[in-house]
Amino acid sequence: MSTVIYPSPIFGPIHSRRLGISLGINLLPADGKVCSFDCIYCECGFNADHRPKQKMPTREEVATALEKKLVEMHNDDVHPDVLTFAGNGEPTSHPHFAEIIDDTIRLRNKYCPDAKVSVLSNATFCGRKSVHNALMRVDNNILKLDTIDPIYINKVDRPTGHYNVEEVIEHLKAFNGHVIIQTMFMKGDINGFNVDNTGDLYVAPWLEAVKRIKPMEVMVYTIDRETPAHGLLKATHEELDSIRDKVTAAGIPCTASY
Ligand code: SF4
Repeated sequence: MSTVIYPSPIFGPIHSRRLGISLGINLLPADGKVCSFDCIYCECGFNADHRPKQKMPTREEVATALEKKLVEMHNDDVHPDVLTFAGNGEPTSHPHFAEIIDDTIRLRNKYCPDAKVSVLSNATFCGRKSVHNALMRVDNNILKLDTIDPIYINKVDRPTGHYNVEEVIEHLKAFNGHVIIQTMFMKGDINGFNVDNTGDLYVAPWLEAVKRIKPMEVMVYTIDRETPAHGLLKATHEELDSIRDKVTAAGIPCTASY
C-alpha cells in the first residue's frame, strides 16, 4: 500500500489536477495524519495507521517556512497558481487556523499576488465562527460533501466525532455562495457495503442539498491514488460527466476530474 504522508508545514510545489501549480501548506504534523474524518479512500491512509508523535507546526513556523519557500520560488522565477491548505488531515483543526490564513494572505500579496489561496477541508469545523470567517477570506473555500446519506457517511467518510449532515448543510449555506463543494464519487464494495454513489439514489438528494447551498462551483472527482481500503473503484468518465451535467443544468458551474 502506498499512501502518502506529506512534509509539514510546506510541500511542493506540485501540479494538481484541479488547481494548477500548487504550493502545499500542511498544518498537521509531519510524521502522521490527524483528521476528523477517516475516509476509506484517504490518500494519507487510515488514521489508526499513522498516529503522529510530533505536534502541529506553530503559526510562526508556518509563516517562516512559507516566506522562505515563496522567496526561493520567486528567485527561481516559479510562480504558484495557488497556495493550497491540504496535507495530512483536516487543516481547519489547527487552533490558529484563522491567524495562519491572515499570514498566508499577507505573504501571497507580497510575493505572488496573482496566486489564489485555497483550502481543502472536510467541512466539519466550518460552523465555528473563526473558521467560517477565515474561510470567507480565502479565494477558494473548497468543502467536502460526498453525500447526504448518514449511513453512507458513516461507512465511507467515517467521522471521528459529532457529525450531523443537516447541520453541515446549514453551515455551507451560511457562506452565501462563497464556497466550492467537492464530492468524491466512486464504486466498489467494502465488507459487503456497496459504496457506489454514482446513481440517482445518492446523486438526486445530494443535488437537492447542493441547490440549497448555492455554491459558486462544484468539483466532482474520483479516486486518483491508491486507497487504504481495498475494493474501491473509480467512477467512469461517463458517470462523472453525467453528474456534472446535472449540476450545470441546475445553473451551478461544475468541473469533473477523472
Ligand atoms: S477528509 Fe480528507 S484528509 Fe480527512 S480522512 Fe478524508 S480524505 Fe483524508
